[in-house]
Amino acid sequence: MDVAEFDGWLSGIAALTPPQRRRAWQALALFEASDCDAIEIGPPLGMNMAGSGAPAAPCQPPTFAPSPVAPPVNRLGVDIVSELGQRRVDSIGCPHCESSDVVRWGKASALPRYRCKSCQRTFNALTKTPLSGLRMKDKWPEQAQAMIDCVSIAEAAKRCDVDYTTAFRWRHRFLASLAGDKPQALSGIVEGDETFILESFKGKRSGMPRKARKRGGTSAKRGLSAEQIPVLVARDRQGATTDAVLPKLNRVSISAALGGIVTSANEFCCDGGAAIVAFARKAGIPTHILPMPGKPNPQAPDFHINNVNAYHGRLKEWLRPFHGVATKNLPNYLGWRRTLEALGQKVTPEDFIFGAIGFGPYQRSTQ
Ligand SMILES: [Zn+2]
Repeated sequence: MDVAEFDGWLSGIAALTPPQRRRAWQALALFEASDCDAIEIGPPLGMNMAGSGAPAAPCQPPTFAPSPVAPPVNRLGVDIVSELGQRRVDSIGCPHCESSDVVRWGKASALPRYRCKSCQRTFNALTKTPLSGLRMKDKWPEQAQAMIDCVSIAEAAKRCDVDYTTAFRWRHRFLASLAGDKPQALSGIVEGDETFILESFKGKRSGMPRKARKRGGTSAKRGLSAEQIPVLVARDRQGATTDAVLPKLNRVSISAALGGIVTSANEFCCDGGAAIVAFARKAGIPTHILPMPGKPNPQAPDFHINNVNAYHGRLKEWLRPFHGVATKNLPNYLGWRRTLEALGQKVTPEDFIFGAIGFGPYQRSTQ
């Protein structure tokens, strides 16, 4: 399309109705996703992208706050994992029975083993964690740094010199614990709001939950379709944040996500959405309804939802380079984002690995 034609096309946006804008937005997102399938679904089995001179992935890597200077990873990964594992054992004891009566029991696969004197079973630092059984521990600090830098799977594979399918598996294993690492309670004023995240079923070639929708005039791939997935975020003024993918935008789903975490001890700020208001009323939570986001009542300037809405903005901007995330993976990505926000700029690979073995920032704060 030439420049003048494109300008004409763009100027038509103003005339679109909201449903037309939504369709256009979805069509663009889907088209972008179809260009970038490799990001999430991986190459054909057996294809090794590490060091194979494969062309660069078609998508730019995500851009969330890469560390300006990546800290040198000069300790052996296996030593880092051993040390973090020792902290885990000191904290939870035997992963089978929780007894703290544990002794060292030699070494296996380069990691110390332990034996529990109560249940007589042996284990290592990673037993019953999502990282259990993963190999090449010396590359984990590099993998963790790739996750801190939010690079694409192709780039992570290159940095770690592993194949693409390994990098994909590592990404999701590293995120599995963090997906559940959430605050057990929020304090003081809490802002809660839903946002919608575009889902795509890219890479899913069978078992689609519904038929791909026809979207007139789009060039979306067959089998590729989009749905707006409701995601709830609640955040207190200390920055503690919880979130959830809602199966439905209703009171029951919101209660499942926030029940016991936001309570009558909080002051809850939300928009006037029927579901969220119904949750707050039923739970007896003092509630401040902000019909106009960004416009708190001048008499009560502390009650607003600006922080949670800013969080939505950062989350969506951060997700954008991933080009659509399948719903089943969305909790992992929410946890990834939540962890990076909680750990802040000083996050280290050790921090991230510790999170991946069950000691995410929120778990740590309750130790
Ligand atoms: Zn035991």
